[in-house]
Amino acid sequence: MGSIRTKLVLIMMLLILALMTVVGSFLINGVGNFYIDQFYDEMGRTFSQEFIRQLQDTTDEGAEEMKERLMAKAGLGIDIAGRNVYVLDSGGAVLAGSDQTAAVSTTTNLLAALNGQVGQDSSITSPYMDLAVPITGDNASYIVYVLDNKSTVNDLTANVMDIIVQSLIMGMGICLVLSVLLAQILITPLRALSKGTRRVAAGDFSEKLEVTSRDEIGALTRDFNDMSRVLRDTLAAAENERNKLSTLFLHMTDGVVAFDAQGRVIHANPAAVQMLGCDPAKSGGFDEMFGQETQLPQVLDLESPEFVETEKTVGDRSLELFMAPFTTEGSPAGVIVVIHDVTEQRKSEQTRREFVANVSHELRTPLTNVKSYAETMADAAGDLPPELQQQFLSVIINEADRMTRIVQDLLTLSKFDYGKMEMNISRFSFAGAIRDVAEAVAMDARNHGHTLTVDVPDDLPEVNGDRDRIQQVLINVVSNAIKYTPNGGRIELLAGVSGEMVWAKVRDNGIGIPEKDLPRLFERFYRVDKARSRESGGTGLGLSIASEILRQHKGEIAIDSVYGKGTTVTVTLPAADSQA
Ligand code: ADP
Repeated sequence: MGSIRTKLVLIMMLLILALMTVVGSFLINGVGNFYIDQFYDEMGRTFSQEFIRQLQDTTDEGAEEMKERLMAKAGLGIDIAGRNVYVLDSGGAVLAGSDQTAAVSTTTNLLAALNGQVGQDSSITSPYMDLAVPITGDNASYIVYVLDNKSTVNDLTANVMDIIVQSLIMGMGICLVLSVLLAQILITPLRALSKGTRRVAAGDFSEKLEVTSRDEIGALTRDFNDMSRVLRDTLAAAENERNKLSTLFLHMTDGVVAFDAQGRVIHANPAAVQMLGCDPAKSGGFDEMFGQETQLPQVLDLESPEFVETEKTVGDRSLELFMAPFTTEGSPAGVIVVIHDVTEQRKSEQTRREFVANVSHELRTPLTNVKSYAETMADAAGDLPPELQQQFLSVIINEADRMTRIVQDLLTLSKFDYGKMEMNISRFSFAGAIRDVAEAVAMDARNHGHTLTVDVPDDLPEVNGDRDRIQQVLINVVSNAIKYTPNGGRIELLAGVSGEMVWAKVRDNGIGIPEKDLPRLFERFYRVDKARSRESGGTGLGLSIASEILRQHKGEIAIDSVYGKGTTVTVTLPAADSQA
């Protein structure tokens, strides 16, 4: 700030100096010229034709006499300071003079007079003014020479100089005060502007600068206020945009990790942290995280909208990665990786593949049997003993039945899968349904020598649902108990209430299920002992169907088992009057 003041003071000073110099030199020049003009004017008037004639008449009386006459003439006398009159002979030697001691040098004017002309020229720069007039008498010739050493002019010039210097000093003093004041007027709003700029740079837009003048600084202040308003709006818009983005990042289900061009993590959202099982911000960057899948420069070199698609496995998760570069001012600035959790997708693809394989396998076995028995019979061409033929036919019929059962079960499941299963919902007695089931399987149980007991309370609440399907579930569970319990076993059918739910338990003391198999029993075609299941006509789909039916009824099925000791299957359903 000080510098503007200094500059202003300096400019003003130089201005005054220049002005005074110009004025001074014009003044001094003017004074000099005025005096020269005045000198020659006066001399012109003095040396009139008449006076020259008088002088010519005195040539015979000698140089001294001429001098006396000259000195008697006004304007040439010794009353004028610094002015002398001389009488010279025609060769230029001084014969007489008002000041005897002064020497006369040969000047241009004197030379002119020596040549018979009046010499009356003087320049402003020469230190004297002179006039040489040749006086030619009858018998003698002289030269009258007037020499003025400019002392009057010099005195005056010195005075003028003094005045100029004094006014220069005074002018500079006034200028100094004025320019300091002026600088103050200029600097105050500039200081306010500079303070405002610092405030805006620090992000404080609260105060508007006051516009104190209508000049350029006032306009600048107004522009500054406009600019800071636009800046505030722009910053608010950017902030808004950033908030939107960060909310999006925070809540999106896909993971997002941003890296800079050196592969350092800039940002990672919670989904990414969860999917990757570690905080990317604390990892070693791109190479450590995705270096095995792809290289950073490879992604940085891509042109929008190209991207790299790859997969990564983290623990038991399958992650799909989409990587694309982002740019700043046209050059690659980093890479965004979007992570998509495809674990479920991959699992269901896997399940579907296994399912198809299972279905094919399950159908192929009975088909092979049917074909081989039928071929044997065809090859024998009626030569087989009738009992054997009968036996073969019954195998063929059994296998066909099995296939029909499998296909029927699959159809039931697919109806559940596509939500096409129609239900006949009605309110019915759960106790009644359980007793009906017990009756239906009683024969089968007796055939295996099992003891089947039923313990169902009379006041068991009713349930809402498809009675046939619930019974189908219970028959399936009891049939399993019959199948997987060695002959002569004990099978109990129990029921009760638990909160708002009713339950039915089927308990056997059969072969039991190993613990490791328990979680997988509801998978389609899953069987602990394939041979035994097939032998007893099982399809491996019964429990899958049961759990689907119960799911539709907002119920549950659970299996407890001790391998070698027995199994308890519990079916739970909401009671008809419950909220559920
Ligand atoms: P399956 O038609 O083979 O019986 P399920 O889906 O009904 O098919 O049962 C799946 C498997 O669960 C059976 O193959 C069997 O190994 C096992 N299982 C079911 N119930 C029992 C039980 N009460 N005791 C022992 N194992 C059982």
